[in-house]
Amino acid sequence: MVDQLGTRSDDEPSGPDLNLSAAQSRRLIELASAHVLGFREGLASGVHPASYVDDSLDPAAYEDGIRAAKELREDVVPTNGTSVEVLLGEIFGPAMANGTMHPHPGFMAHVPSGGLFQSAVADFVARSVNRFAGVWIAAPGFQQIERNVIRWFCSMLGYGEGSFGYLTTGGSIANFMAVVCAREHDERARPAGGEPVLYVSAEGHFSITKAARMAGFPASAVRVIPTTPAYAMDTDALIAHIEADRALGHRPTCVIATAGTTNSGAVDNLPLLAEYCRAHDIWLHVDACFGGFFHITERGRAALAGIENADSIAVDGHKSLFLPHGNSALLVRDQRRLGDAFRVSDAAYLPGLTTDDELVDFCGLGPELSREVRGVTAWLPLKMHGIHAFERALDTAMDLAADFSARAARLPGIEVIQPHPLVLPVVNFRLLPEHEGADEARLNARLCALICSRKNAYLATTQLPGYGVVVRVCILHPRTDAAVVGQLLDDITWALNRLRAESDTVGRSPRRAPRSGHRRC
Ligand SMILES: *Cc1c(COP(=O)(O)O)cnc(C)c1O
Repeated sequence: MVDQLGTRSDDEPSGPDLNLSAAQSRRLIELASAHVLGFREGLASGVHPASYVDDSLDPAAYEDGIRAAKELREDVVPTNGTSVEVLLGEIFGPAMANGTMHPHPGFMAHVPSGGLFQSAVADFVARSVNRFAGVWIAAPGFQQIERNVIRWFCSMLGYGEGSFGYLTTGGSIANFMAVVCAREHDERARPAGGEPVLYVSAEGHFSITKAARMAGFPASAVRVIPTTPAYAMDTDALIAHIEADRALGHRPTCVIATAGTTNSGAVDNLPLLAEYCRAHDIWLHVDACFGGFFHITERGRAALAGIENADSIAVDGHKSLFLPHGNSALLVRDQRRLGDAFRVSDAAYLPGLTTDDELVDFCGLGPELSREVRGVTAWLPLKMHGIHAFERALDTAMDLAADFSARAARLPGIEVIQPHPLVLPVVNFRLLPEHEGADEARLNARLCALICSRKNAYLATTQLPGYGVVVRVCILHPRTDAAVVGQLLDDITWALNRLRAESDTVGRSPRRAPRSGHRRC
């Protein structure tokens, strides 16, 4: 660091030597911690809005964000060192002050990621010691910690003896691994011949299509099954599709159920799907990236009943376990399926892989070899607080969503759309226009933009089959509380008043019966 007199102090970490002294290391941690803690205080005291963009309302806000991002562009590899304070200033200045603020308690768009700070510190520790847990012999202790986390995840989802899993950076990768497991299992279990086929509902996540493509399935091999008016997979339609495919000589390989659709929190009929798939020797994968960890709550267990009979489950710790991005897992009911899919003969330069059940070579259970030690980021918060703290936080999210739903439904002109019982904390609503033929999509997009323009909350619209554009609220941040929800209701009221001032034609119609579920297959 160069002080005001232009002299360089000895503990400035930047410079030509890659090996930091103890004093430089301490200085680096202190500077980074000060910025991180300042950022967290700023968030708590409202320095940062829930988003820096007003969507379509304020194009200038978008422009600012785009400009800030463009100004960060550097094409030339740095030749000389830059002071760490300057660099941290860049991260916590221009890189931070644009876009949407995921760590903000008013972030209720998409699926929030709580980003527990404890978990970030665990990650810092794990990366600082930089051990290698790809093979057990390199870090038997760390692989055991990671195994513990995987075992806990399995039992949190209702899996028993013989189950296991693999920690991934995201649900998309977990879904991809599941499709590979299903294909390998199918190839081993059945004689060759026939085109393998996958089934997912029209409300399934787009990462399934991507997973199928990455796993080598042609687009024509993915059957999109229509949903019921409650947005769950239409199981009659599924069975009809499977039977028709069989008759054509295809190989129904994998049904991908969704436990908590991103759009509305709908859960497919897991007991029926598990029974059917088992009877017909079809792999059942459950994409529980959104809903999975709600299984640790009483309401969640009831909604997700039957998930424990699936062959595999994808879960996102960075969603329903409040961890920072990059914390997900694929869980399998029979741990041998992971080895079947991913283990190849050992490389000569690696120590011999283990066959001891108490030890694990993660490189034989997933696509990677070198990677960061992953378990610690979930292990530390789970050990620090215990499972009941997470259960309470998830119960709070569900309670807040129920409260929001009831209060939003009382706002004039607002229709809350709840075609299935509200369990997972997603509430969709829309403003009904006065006249038939009014542009409902534009009206609701504008309502959402107006709410966001208050900067207390960030919401997004979605397309809900049968209803069109609706405003969507997803409550899943551990800091979202009754005050945040109360503020959101105030902001919606403010936005409605403003819309009424612009036009006296909105929001006066009597409630209309919802149209029937729209089929997209
Ligand atoms: C978020 C989500 C995914 C994708 O998970 P990533 O961790 O973002 O890769 C898949 N399925 C569902 C239902 C999701 O909500």
